[in-house]
Amino acid sequence: MALRNIVTDEDPSLKKKSRPVTEVTDRIRILVEDMIETMRAADGVGIAAPQVGVLRRIAVVEVEDLYVLINPVITEREGDQFNEEACLSVPGRAGKVHRPTRVVCEAMDLDGNMQRYEVEGLTAVCFCHEIDHLDGILYTDKAEEIRSTEGDYEEEDEE
Ligand code: ZN
Repeated sequence: MALRNIVTDEDPSLKKKSRPVTEVTDRIRILVEDMIETMRAADGVGIAAPQVGVLRRIAVVEVEDLYVLINPVITEREGDQFNEEACLSVPGRAGKVHRPTRVVCEAMDLDGNMQRYEVEGLTAVCFCHEIDHLDGILYTDKAEEIRSTEGDYEEEDEE
């Protein structure tokens, strides 16, 4: 396993639509392992393949449980929540976004089998955020309020 570089929002590739995975090969499995490692090293709760420079429809979410989503499709969405989000590709900022409170997502797993996930709360936010990346959409395209988070850490440094 290896850490991959995280692409930031200055890179136009994050605006591109990713292509579906046709077959779960060893190459895809290694990519997923690297994505998990990269997400954890960056203290993230999710990461999408385009964030590591691979325009394929793969996302990883880790909120309590770890979800590997290959070719994910949201088939049901319900409710509305409005919470602050951040993104590993948009360092130093956070913004409030409307998301469903509950979603159902169908995706392929690492064995190539279709799975159905029903998630809510923060997990639902992460599913939506990561799946948006696969369509070239960043949370900053949807956020109503965006603020700098750089000052959040300054006080800690002074103490
Ligand atoms: Zn993101």
